[in-house]
Amino acid sequence: MAKNSYLLRFDDICPTMNWAVWEAIERELLLHDVRPILAVVPDNRDPGLMLDPPAADFWERVRRWQALGFTIAVHGYQHLYTNRDKGLMKLTPHSEFAGLPYETQLDMLRRALAIFAENGVRADGFVAPSHSFDRNTLKALAELKINVVSDGLWPWPHQDANGLFWVPQQLWRFSPKPAGVWTVCLHHNKWPDKTLQLFRSELAKYASRMTDVAAVKAAFAGRPQTLGDRISAFHNLMWYHRVLPALGALRRTLVPSRQGA
Ligand SMILES: [Zn+2]
Repeated sequence: MAKNSYLLRFDDICPTMNWAVWEAIERELLLHDVRPILAVVPDNRDPGLMLDPPAADFWERVRRWQALGFTIAVHGYQHLYTNRDKGLMKLTPHSEFAGLPYETQLDMLRRALAIFAENGVRADGFVAPSHSFDRNTLKALAELKINVVSDGLWPWPHQDANGLFWVPQQLWRFSPKPAGVWTVCLHHNKWPDKTLQLFRSELAKYASRMTDVAAVKAAFAGRPQTLGDRISAFHNLMWYHRVLPALGALRRTLVPSRQGA
């Protein structure tokens, strides 16, 4: 594995997603032999993810992706934000899971797994909608033996005391990074053509540095989290998710918009 390697993660995979864009993406993935994490919504009820009529062969496609070595993660249950709990990650102000009682979360995850099982799909991991989960979510995941979580701003993967293997997810676009395992999280449903073009050129550029969850697990299983990981994640949270957005907002206030000029 390259010293700085990259994983791709696509969120909001469901029967009513934007299929034209997805099919173009899938062609690129196969062309470059890239096996991403696909965050599949088991029973989507979020109107924001309803772009196309439901694909009748959706689960057949999911089974094919899994057979190709793509990591199929449970992306919540219904993708509905029922409360405003930031959870452990503190990235977004709403959640499907964080803040709910343990039994409720366990029940939602059981239902999610039942849908996967009915359709012959294995749950390779968990991706929380809106990055929001809490200690009860983690307890329920460990209980249900969903042992891989894609989230966290640390540079390296680690395994925690409950046996959960954490594959960090720090980026929302490709960018040059130092040593680490960098997951780029993408949401393709509303991509205009120019975003698809950019994806094509970035993937070609980064193709030799791409890895997959199986290789990451083989390399890092059992690695404990270090103090350095925590310091790096704290810096990442403060700089990229607090300071830079605040500076951007300040700049927009001070520099008049050119819109309408
Ligand atoms: Zn989502």
